[in-house]
Amino acid sequence: MNKNYIVPNEWSIIEEVFDTKNIKASESLFSIGNGSMGQRANFEEDYSGETLQGSYIGGVYYPDKTRVGWWKNGYPEYFAKVLNAPNWIGIHIQINNTNLDLNLCEVSNFRRELNMKEGWLSRSFKATLKTGEEILVNAKRLISIELNELGAIEYSITAVNFSGEITFSPYIDTGIVNEDSNYDESFWKTLQIVEEKNKGSILAKTLKTEFHVATAMNVSFTLNNLKLEVPQKTLIEEKSLTYSYKIKVSEGDVATIYKYGSYVSSLNYKNNELIEASFQNVQTASELRFEDLLNLQKQSWSSIWRTADIVIEGDVKAQQGIRFNIFQLNQTYMGTDARLNIGPKGFTGEKYGGSTYWDTEAYCIPFYMGTKDAQVAKNLLLYRYNQLDKAIENAQKLGFTNGAALYPMVTMNGEECHNEWEITFEEIHRNGAMLYGIYNYINYTQDFEYVPKYGLEVMIGVARFWHQRANFSIDKNKYVILGVTGPNEYENNINNNFYTNYLAKWCIEYTVENLNKVKHNYPEDFKRVTKKTNLTEEETYKWLKVSENMYFPFSEKHNVYLQQDGFLDKELIPVVELPKSERPINQKWSWDRILRSCYIKQADVLQGLFFFEDKFTKQELERHFDFYEPLTVHESSLSPCVHSILAASIDRMPKAYEQYVRTARLDLDDYNHEVDEGCHITSMAGTWMSIVQGFGGMRVSEDGKLSFNPQIPKQWKSYSFTINFRNQILKIKVNQAKTIFELEGANELEIRVNNKIIIVTPNNLVTV
Ligand code: BGC
Repeated sequence: MNKNYIVPNEWSIIEEVFDTKNIKASESLFSIGNGSMGQRANFEEDYSGETLQGSYIGGVYYPDKTRVGWWKNGYPEYFAKVLNAPNWIGIHIQINNTNLDLNLCEVSNFRRELNMKEGWLSRSFKATLKTGEEILVNAKRLISIELNELGAIEYSITAVNFSGEITFSPYIDTGIVNEDSNYDESFWKTLQIVEEKNKGSILAKTLKTEFHVATAMNVSFTLNNLKLEVPQKTLIEEKSLTYSYKIKVSEGDVATIYKYGSYVSSLNYKNNELIEASFQNVQTASELRFEDLLNLQKQSWSSIWRTADIVIEGDVKAQQGIRFNIFQLNQTYMGTDARLNIGPKGFTGEKYGGSTYWDTEAYCIPFYMGTKDAQVAKNLLLYRYNQLDKAIENAQKLGFTNGAALYPMVTMNGEECHNEWEITFEEIHRNGAMLYGIYNYINYTQDFEYVPKYGLEVMIGVARFWHQRANFSIDKNKYVILGVTGPNEYENNINNNFYTNYLAKWCIEYTVENLNKVKHNYPEDFKRVTKKTNLTEEETYKWLKVSENMYFPFSEKHNVYLQQDGFLDKELIPVVELPKSERPINQKWSWDRILRSCYIKQADVLQGLFFFEDKFTKQELERHFDFYEPLTVHESSLSPCVHSILAASIDRMPKAYEQYVRTARLDLDDYNHEVDEGCHITSMAGTWMSIVQGFGGMRVSEDGKLSFNPQIPKQWKSYSFTINFRNQILKIKVNQAKTIFELEGANELEIRVNNKIIIVTPNNLVTV
C-alpha cells in the first residue's frame, strides 16, 4: 500500500496526524536545505521513538572503507559518504523537570507544514505530559538561501494549564554517527569547544579527509513576545556544548527560544578562521532576527519560483507533486559551486552516500538549464571535466590504455566508489551520459565554445573507451560489447545491451563530428587538445570502424530492438499478471529469480529512444513502447518519467498521465516503499521533464531551435511552465483549447508549435 497521509495543498506539504509509524517518512518529506547544506525534518526536542537523524553539508564526506563479501580486483578502496554532520537544531526541553518527548506523551492537534512558496518548515501540537502539564508548541525553522551558512529556529511553548518552569537546553553536538557505516567507525573528531554568553561553537574534523567544520549556535528568548534575558548554565562534554535556561511561566504564558545555527567548513575558509566565521554568522543572524531572516527567505524563494514554477489548474495533487519536486531540487543544488553536485537523495538521507551518479547528466541537466542561468548547467559539466584525469585513471585500473576514460558509477571527487562488480565494471553506459549531457547543453545554450575549451577532451576520453571496450565478433561480422549491465539493473553481465551499444556508437560519432567542427572553427584549440591527448586522425578512423559496424540485437518477429542478446528466451509475462503481493519484486523475490525474469527495473531500450527520439519514427517509438512498457516494474525512481514523456510523444495521454502522477508523487505517496530512507531527488528532475518535454512537448534541435507540441491531460484545466531560454524568460500556458506564449526579454523568438513557425515578441501574448 502506498502512503496516503499528506494533505493535498497547492503550495505546502502538510501532515495533520501524529503517527509514530510515519515519523521517518515525514523526516524525509519535510527536509529543508539550501543547496549547500540541508537536513531531515528531525524534531528539535528529544524523541525516543524511531528516527533517522540527518544533517548534511555539501561536499563534506568521509571515505568509508569498502566492505564486500569477496574482493575483486579493481574494486575501490572506499565509498565516499556525505556524512551526518554535527547537530545544531537540538533543544532539550523540560516542563517542570519532565522531559518533552513526543514518543512518551499524549499528542493532539499535530500539524506539520513545509511551505514551499516561502521556504520554511513549521510544526505545532498540543502535548500532555505524563505528569499532567499541557503545552502548546509552535516551531518554525528555515535554512537560509541568502545567507547560505545559516539556519534559524523559532520555538514557542504556551503553558496551557500550569504555572511553573520551562527549561530550554539548546545544544550543539559533534558526537553523531552515520547509520550507514561499514565498520561502525566514528567519522568525526572533536577539536575545540568555544563558549561565550548565549553563543558557542565546536570545531571538528572528519577523519581521513580532514574537512574541518565549525558548528555554532546563538540563542535568545522572549516571554509573551517581550525580550527576556535568562541566566545561562553551561555544560561542556567531550563532543557537545549545552546551555540551559530556566524560564518561570504562569498559566497562559508563551516562552520562545530563538536558536540560530551555522556551519562553516574548510571548503571555504582556512581552518584557523572557522570558529570566528561561525560566530560571525550566528551574530549576524541574531542581529537580523528571525522575522528578517524569514522575509529574506521569502524573497529568495520568490525569485527561484519566478523561473521555475509550474502551475497546474484542476488537480491539486498533481500541483503539489510538481512543486514538491521543483522545491527539493532547488534545496539540493543551486548551481553556484562547481565542486558540488546532486546526490540521488540530496540532503534527505544517507543512502547513495550523497555522491554523484549518471542521474545528473541523464536527468538533472535539462531541469537546471531550463530554470536557471546557463552557468548552472555549465558548472555541472565542469564538475566532470575537472574529474577527467580521475576517469582516465579509473579506466587504467581496469586495463584500458591511451587516455581512455571511464567515469565512475558513483563518485564524490572523481574516484569510483561503487563496489559491486556487475555495476562498477559493467554498468558502463554511464560514460555515454557524460557526452549526452554536453550534447543537451550545447543544443540548448548554443555555447559552442564549451566544446573546444573543455568538452572535447572529455569526448576523446570517452570515445577511446568505447573503441577499446567493443570487440569484433567474427561470428556476427560486427562489433559487440560484452559483459555489461544496462540501465535495467535487473539484468547483469549481458551481451549487447541495445542502449549501451547505441550510446557507444553515438558517442564516437558525436566526438568525431565535434573534432571536425573544432578543427575548422577553433584551429588553435584543435592543436592544443590533439597535442595534449596525442590524438591522430588514424586513431579516429579506428573508432569509426567500430561505430559504423556496431551490432544491435533485433527481433524480426516483433520488429523491435532487443534489450540484449537472448532477451526473447525469457518468459514474457506482463507485469499486470504479477500478484500485487509480490511487488516490489526487489523486496519480495530472490535476486536469482529477478535476474531470470523478463522484468525491467527502469527504462532501458526506452531510455535510448527517449534520448534520441528524433532518430526514430513514431511507429518505431510505438512498437518499442508497446513491447517494453508492459514488462517494466518501475522499481527505480528514474523510470516513470521516461515512460511518461515517451507516452506523450506517441499520443498516449492516459498512460502519460498515469506515469506522471507516479513520478510526481513517488515520494509523497511512497510508491517504492522506501521514502523513510530519503527522497528520490534526481528523479524529480524527470518529473519536471514529464511536463515540459512530455505534455509540453518541448524539444531543442541540434541547431538550437525551440519547438513545442503541447497536449493536456483531460484531468487538468490548464498548466503553465516557464523556461529560461538563453536569458529570455518564456512562459507557456496550455489549456484544453489553446496555448499562450509570453516572452520577457529583449529579442523576439522564433519557435515551432505543432509544426508551424510562430514568432513571439517580448511582452506580447501569442495564442496558438
Ligand atoms: C538506478 C540507477 C541510479 C541509482 C541512483 C538505481 O536504483 O538503477 O540508474 O543511478 O539508483 O539514483
